[in-house]
Amino acid sequence: MSVSRVGVIGAGTMGRGIAQIAALGGYETVLYDVAPDIVEIGASRLREALYKGAERERWSIDDALAAGSRVETTIELTGLAGCDLVVEAAPEKLELKRQIFTGLAEAVGPEPVFATNTSSLRVSEIAAGVPQPDRLVGMHFFNPPPLMKLVEVVAAERSSEAALAATTEVAERMGRTPIRAKDSPGFVANRLARPFTLESLRILGDGVADAATIDRIVRLGGGFRMGPFELLDLIGLDVNLEIARSFFAQGGEPERWRPNPIQEQLVAEGCLGRKSGRGYHDYGKDAEREPDPDLGIETPTLDPAQLAQVDPAAEEVLTRLFAQIANEAAFALEEEIASPEDMDTAMKLGFNWPVGPLGFAKLIGPDRAAEVLERLWAEKGPAYEPAPELRRIISSST
Ligand code: NAD
Repeated sequence: MSVSRVGVIGAGTMGRGIAQIAALGGYETVLYDVAPDIVEIGASRLREALYKGAERERWSIDDALAAGSRVETTIELTGLAGCDLVVEAAPEKLELKRQIFTGLAEAVGPEPVFATNTSSLRVSEIAAGVPQPDRLVGMHFFNPPPLMKLVEVVAAERSSEAALAATTEVAERMGRTPIRAKDSPGFVANRLARPFTLESLRILGDGVADAATIDRIVRLGGGFRMGPFELLDLIGLDVNLEIARSFFAQGGEPERWRPNPIQEQLVAEGCLGRKSGRGYHDYGKDAEREPDPDLGIETPTLDPAQLAQVDPAAEEVLTRLFAQIANEAAFALEEEIASPEDMDTAMKLGFNWPVGPLGFAKLIGPDRAAEVLERLWAEKGPAYEPAPELRRIISSST
C-alpha cells in the first residue's frame, strides 16, 4: 500500500518528534491531542524544531517551511480520516491505548494501518479487542525521534505482512533505519541492553572495582561513550529500576534480569542520579570528571596488555560484561526476537554501542564466553546460566 498521509496521536515528547520527521519525509501530517492548547503547543514546538534544524544546517530553510506547511492539527479522531498510517504516542497505559485504537477504528474506518509507539507493553495485548487487529503493529521510536535513527517495527501475533511492510517503508522515508522485531519484552534494543547495567552492578557488588573505575574501564577498553554508572545517573536510578522491574516481571523472573539490590537501596535513600545531585557519582559543584586520556587502544578489546594500561581490573570487568552481552544475544536469538544483523544495528543506533552484541560475542568467542559463564554460574548462581546452545548459536551467528 502507498502511504501519503500520516496521523500522530499525542503531541508530547515523542508524538511531536514523530510528526516532525513524518513531515520532513514528505508526508501530509496530522497531529492529534485531547485539547486545543495541548495540540497547538505541540505543533508550535514542532515548527520551532524545524527552524532550529535549518539554522544548524541539518536541512534547508525551504525544507523546514515545506515540512511546517504539511502539518495540520486536530482534537477529533475523525480529523485523522484519510490518513494511511496513524502512529499512537499517548501515555503508556494499556487500557488507554486500547480505547484510543477502538475509537480510532470507528472514526477512520477499516483501511488505515495503526502503529503504537509503546516501549514496554505487548503490542498483541493492545491489539486485542481492536477491530481488524491485523492492521496494528508496533513502531518503536527512540527519544528524541528526530535524532535517533533506530525504529523497531514490531510484529504482533496477528500483524499482517502488508501493515508491517507499509510501516517499514514509512520509517525509511522518515530517514530512519527500521529493524524487524518480535513482540517480546522490551523488543530488541532495550532488552539487549539489560546486561550493560545489570552485569556492571553485579561486578560492583562483588567488589571487583568501584563505580568510577568500572565506568572508566568500559569507556577506555570497551569503547562505549559512557560507562554504565554514568548512564544510570543520567537516566535516573528510579526510572531505570522501574524498567528493570518491568523486564523481570514480563520475562518470568529470570535471575539474570533480577533488579539489583544496590540500586534498590540507593533509590530508597533518594540517590536518584544527576537529578538529585547524587547517584553512583556525586554531582556537587566542580564534580565533572576529567576527560579520558588517549591510550592509543583500538576498542573494544580484550587484549591483556592493552587492558593492563587501563586498570588491573579491566580484563575481569570486560570479560564478564562481554560474556553476559553475548549470553543475552544468544537467548534473544533462540527466541528469534530479531536477526543477528538487526540486533547489531539496534544497539549501534539505539544505544551508540561501538559494536553490536554479536560483535562483542565474536570478540570474546563462543568458547571463552561459555567458560566464563559456566565458572560464574557455579560460583555465583543462576544469573550466569548460559543460554542453551550458547556455543552453537554464537558460532553460527558471528
Ligand atoms: P508524553 O507524556 O510526553 O506525551 C503524551 C501525550 O499524549 C501528551 O501530549 C498527552 O496530552 C497526550 N494524551 C493524553 N491522553 C491522551 C488520549 N486519550 N488520547 C490522545 N493523546 C493523549 O509521553 P511520551 O514520552 O511522548 O510517550 C508517549 C509514548 O511513547 C508512550 O507509550 C511511551 O512509552 C512511548 N515512548 C517514550 C519514549 C521516551 O523516551 N519518552 C521512548 C520511546 C517510546
